[in-house]
Amino acid sequence: MSIIIKSEREIALMRQAGRIVGTVLDTLSRRVKPGMKTKELDIIAAEAVERLGGTPSFKGYRGFPANLCVSVNDEVVHGIPGERVLREGDIVSLDFGAIYKGFHGDGAITVGVGEIASKAKELVETTRGALAAGIAAAHAGARLGDISAAIQGYAEGRGFSVVREYTGHGIGREMHEEPQIANFGVAGTGPVLKKGMTIALEPMVNLGDWHTRLGGDQWTVLTADGSLSAHFEHTIVISGEEAEVLTVREGVYA
Ligand code: MG
Repeated sequence: MSIIIKSEREIALMRQAGRIVGTVLDTLSRRVKPGMKTKELDIIAAEAVERLGGTPSFKGYRGFPANLCVSVNDEVVHGIPGERVLREGDIVSLDFGAIYKGFHGDGAITVGVGEIASKAKELVETTRGALAAGIAAAHAGARLGDISAAIQGYAEGRGFSVVREYTGHGIGREMHEEPQIANFGVAGTGPVLKKGMTIALEPMVNLGDWHTRLGGDQWTVLTADGSLSAHFEHTIVISGEEAEVLTVREGVYA
């Protein structure tokens, strides 16, 4: 399988899908508060995506039972929303995908529940920065490894580690298309990026070691050492000098 180049028309539809994802995540970020159950966030996401004219991507994907992934503290990704109650000081990663007219958008944010410890704040800001560094490296003519190296260098340069077992990915008519995009790697290696490629970059950054383990529900991924983990994701389109971020609600969620 090769990397698919999207037409202008397809990119326009992905822009709509991305805006839906960005808006749902922005809505969720404003609603997170101590005392709420994680399943309440799933309901908010379902209502918001319907109002915006999209369909949730994750529900039923390989049997995933919810609209939204909610991963708290040492949970890295793929947490299933449920009865867990969010507490002051938790960090919560929200990963959401939507389909609009046959095209997917995929994005994630990590938010603090009330006041969070300074080290947790540093982890969250580093992960957000690692995503920004990856996006900055993603332009036509660059290589895939440039993105991976930029993400890894940013996170490790600040004393954190990047998860290695899970990756970013191409995206379009399928939620997961070629290529896989590791959050670690060597600059100057891998396929050359071309205008019209649409990819989802998603660094997962740990406070401790990078190793993960799978939880008892067979979905939730946790840090092996129990340390905190954060996750940010944007769907972007490669376009000349600077990539365009699709999963954005302008001026609010970046
Ligand atoms: Mg993704």
